[in-house]
Amino acid sequence: MPQDSRPVAVVSGGSRGIGRAVVERFLTDGYDVGYCYRSRPADADAIERLAAEHGGRVFGASVDVTDPDAVRGFLEGTQERLGAIDAIVTSAGIVQDGPLVTMGQEAWTSVIDTNLTGTYNVCRAAVFALMKQGRGSIVTLSSVAGVCGSATQTNYAASKAGIIGFTRSLAKEVARFGIRANVVAPGLIATDMTDGMKAKAREAVLAQIPLGRIGTAAEVADTVAFLASDRASYITGQVIRIDGGIGN
Ligand code: NAD
Repeated sequence: MPQDSRPVAVVSGGSRGIGRAVVERFLTDGYDVGYCYRSRPADADAIERLAAEHGGRVFGASVDVTDPDAVRGFLEGTQERLGAIDAIVTSAGIVQDGPLVTMGQEAWTSVIDTNLTGTYNVCRAAVFALMKQGRGSIVTLSSVAGVCGSATQTNYAASKAGIIGFTRSLAKEVARFGIRANVVAPGLIATDMTDGMKAKAREAVLAQIPLGRIGTAAEVADTVAFLASDRASYITGQVIRIDGGIGN
């Protein structure tokens, strides 16, 4: 990372949940941050205030990660406003759960498009700039569902397993350009995504977590920030589970 200026991170899905905690963590660590989100602009206003508290600069944009042109524009805008990008985190994601026997085409396509193709779109739009500058770190968000499978989540688990294959391949492809790529695979983390879980389902998952509790977005953000930083300079192509032991 350049010593004479603040490092720059980009976070997709940065307005809420895990992505939001990652933005906060980057700001605390002295980064400037570009982030995108799909809805609820009021969440983005809170990030502007947070940046002011930390003396950091942020560039927030409402961008759908399934739209490659919009993603490219967002990354160009980030570089114009904040400078060369050091770290990329792909956190934008959705669930649309249900058993396969009733799963419609739309539930399949929208989850694959947002989670897997969205990750491709962000990395594809950024990778050449990282290669040219000869440095950079990419952290993608998978899930324990993508590692172990999860009933009623065939679409989600497929997208998250795809992210693992994508990231490990990318790590091998870009290592010689000084770029690292790693995956974090959270278990059950308290965010809007999991708030809607039925109490019975939540209790059933909780009973299987050796550490006996749901994780926090800040706990995931800590590992993401570590992997993005030079402290992880010899780590690439790894899948780090942050799951209280449930995936063991
Ligand atoms: P969340 O619902 O709280 O936040 C999702 C974020 O993604 C929001 O900022 C939203 O605006 C953004 N987003 C959604 N679709 C988008 C699109 N098409 N374009 C741009 N932005 C979009 O979710 P979360 O719990 O913070 O999850 C973040 C990531 O972590 C996701 O990829 C999710 O699959 C993964 N994950 C979450 C958990 C969990 O338990 N919460 C567990 C494992 C993995």
